[in-house]
Amino acid sequence: MGKVKKKVKLIKIDPDKCNGCRACELICSAFHATPKYSSNNPARARIRMIYEPLKDIYLPVYAGEYTAATCMGRNKYIIDGKEYGECAFCRASCPARDAFKEPDSGLPLKCDMCEDDPAQEVPLCVKWCITDALTYEEVEEEVEEDVALTEMEIGLKALVDKYGLDNMVDGIARLSQKG
Ligand code: SF4
Ligand code: SF4
Repeated sequence: MGKVKKKVKLIKIDPDKCNGCRACELICSAFHATPKYSSNNPARARIRMIYEPLKDIYLPVYAGEYTAATCMGRNKYIIDGKEYGECAFCRASCPARDAFKEPDSGLPLKCDMCEDDPAQEVPLCVKWCITDALTYEEVEEEVEEDVALTEMEIGLKALVDKYGLDNMVDGIARLSQKG
């Protein structure tokens, strides 16, 4: 596949401005509740704030791609005298941790930039962040042309990785006989 120019949406994060209020987690989970805004539960948010007040660490990170493999990243970073593990900055929903997983099903969660119809002016976590720790940017970049997976396809891929394709096919066949 070739390269194409694409508008890329970004959230810029300034951890020094984050006060740990968790408003970003609340509004993200409420926006993605079914029906919309019917409940809020930060465990279902696609952004999370790493909170270690005794070390003065408040680090918001929003969810990126699902990955089936655990990486080998065990490095430590000292930034402004604060120590962060490599995982702290990672946006992946991965097998090694609970972050960015739907708490009931374990299926991966990914930030969709608050996709809506009509579109939101700015992502809701940015709008609700009163300290400007989160700011929204759009940049044009040359990226590899790819076919983005839908949320359902990402969930299916995670299930196939967990249970194996054959088991999934058998299960779906059994379900269809019952249905
Ligand atoms: S809303 Fe802003 S200040 Fe509050 S936790 Fe999220 S990033 Fe930090
Ligand atoms: S942009 Fe929207 S979907 Fe993404 S983390 Fe922020 S509130 Fe959640």
